[in-house]
Amino acid sequence: MQPYQLTIAEASDLLQARELSAEELTRSVLGRIEALDGEIGAYISVAADQALAAARRADEAFSRGEAGPLTGIPLAVKDLICTRGVATTCASRILENFVPPYDATVIEKLRQAGAVVVGKANMDEFAMGSTTENSGLQPTRNPWNGGHVPGGSSGGSAAAVAADMCLGALGSDTGGSIRQPASHCGVVGLKPTYGRVSRFGLVAFASSLDQIGPLGKSTRDCARLLSVISGHDRRDSTSVPEPVPDYEVALDRELGDVTVGIPVEFSVSEGLDPDVSAAVQRAVATIESLGVRCREVRLPHAQYAVAAYYVIAPSEASSNLARYDGVKYGFRDAGGGDLMEMYRRTRSRGFGAEVQRRILIGTYCLSSGYYDAYYRKASQVRALIREDYARAFESCDVILSPVAPTPAPAFGEIADDPLTMYLSDIFTLSANLAGIPALSVPCGFSSAGLPIGLQLSAPHFGEQVLLQVAHRYEQAADLQGKKPPLDG
Ligand code: GLN
Repeated sequence: MQPYQLTIAEASDLLQARELSAEELTRSVLGRIEALDGEIGAYISVAADQALAAARRADEAFSRGEAGPLTGIPLAVKDLICTRGVATTCASRILENFVPPYDATVIEKLRQAGAVVVGKANMDEFAMGSTTENSGLQPTRNPWNGGHVPGGSSGGSAAAVAADMCLGALGSDTGGSIRQPASHCGVVGLKPTYGRVSRFGLVAFASSLDQIGPLGKSTRDCARLLSVISGHDRRDSTSVPEPVPDYEVALDRELGDVTVGIPVEFSVSEGLDPDVSAAVQRAVATIESLGVRCREVRLPHAQYAVAAYYVIAPSEASSNLARYDGVKYGFRDAGGGDLMEMYRRTRSRGFGAEVQRRILIGTYCLSSGYYDAYYRKASQVRALIREDYARAFESCDVILSPVAPTPAPAFGEIADDPLTMYLSDIFTLSANLAGIPALSVPCGFSSAGLPIGLQLSAPHFGEQVLLQVAHRYEQAADLQGKKPPLDG
C-alpha cells in the first residue's frame, strides 16, 4: 500500500506512531498528482514547495509532541477559498491572476490543526454548474471513467480525493456542489448547516446559501475535517456561536433510537435513473437491517426547489459579482473606450457563458417591477420549504434521498442544455434553501460502473446524528475498498 492511499485517520495513526513521516506522505501525494493529474485535471495549481515546507513543520511538531488532529495531512482546497500567496482563481479568467493577501478562516483553522495544503482544486467557474465543465480554465475527468464528468461544482476536490491525489479536501456547496460530485466520484461529502462554518475568505456565489464543507474517503475523515473547520467567526456575521462537538468521537457512540424519513415526493420523481433508484432502495434495506426505523415523510414544496433556487442564487450572484469591474483587481480588457465600455468588455471577456447567464437572470429578477414577482415569490417558497423540513423532522431524525437523479453524465451530455443541468439539482437544492446539513455517502454503482451516492439530511446543527447514521451505514454497506481503475 502506498501512503497516498491512506485515509486521514489511518495516516494520522501512522504519523503519530512515527512509522511514516509527514514529508514522505506529502511526497507520495505529490508523486501521485504528478503521475495522474495530467490526465484527470483535478488541480488548477499545486503548491509543492509550500506543501513540503508545511510537511517538514509537521514532522517537527511530531518530534516536539505537539501534533494536532490534521498534522501532516495533505489536503486539496477548492479554488474559491482564499489562500495567502497562492492564486485563487474561482476557475475564472477574470480572477486568473488573483493572489489573495490573506487566508480564509477555514485555511487558518486547517493550518492551526497542522494540515498541509497541496493545491487548489478545479471547479465550475464561480461554483456555477454541476459538471465542472463550466471551468474557465480546464476540464476535470471522473477517475472512474474518463469519458464522464466528476460532477460539480467541486469536481476537482471530489476527483482529487477519489484518485488518491490528496487525503481529503474542502469544497463549497450552494445547491449541491459538495454532495453531488462526492456522489459522482464515490467519496463522502458533507454540506454543513448554514452558519456552522465561517465563509470569511470564501469567494461569494450566493451568500445566503453558500457553505464550505469537507470531502473525504470516509465518514470518519469528514467528521474530523468538520470538527476542525467549524465554529463561530466574528468576521462572518452569519456564522453561529454554537459549540463545536468532536464529531469523530461521537461516531462510535450508540445510535440509540433513530428514525429515518423517506420523502414520498422523491420516490415518484420523474427522470430518476433505475440504477440510482435500485441503489437507494438497497441502502434503505441496509439501514433497516441496522435496527433503524424508516417511515414516510412529506416535503410537499420540494417540487418548487429548482424554480426558487434558480431565482435566488442568480439574484445573489448578480449582486456579488458586480465587484469584478476590471478596476480593483483581476482581469481588465485593454481594448480602450470609456469607463462603461471598459466594464462591458472586461465582464464580457472575463466571465464565461454560464456566469453571464446567471448575472442576466439575477439582474432581471431583482429589477424594479420584477422583484416582487420573482425574488420575493422565490423567498416565500423558500420559507415554505424550510417549514416542510421543520414539520418532517417532528417525526424523524434524518431524511434519506438520492443525491442526483443519474450517475455522472458523459462530457457534453447535460452541460449544453442549462435547463437539464438545473433540473439535475432537484434533490440537493432544498437543503441549502432550508439551511440544514446534508451529506452524500457512497451506496453502490451503476451497471456501467459509475458510483452512486445516498443523501442524508438532518435538522439545523444535526451534523452529529447525520455522521453517525452515515458511519453505521458505511460500515454495513462495505463499499470503501472499491477504488477507481487507475492503476493499470
Ligand atoms: N449546480 C448548482 C448551480 O449550478 C449548485 C452549485 C453549487 O452548489 N455551487 O448553481
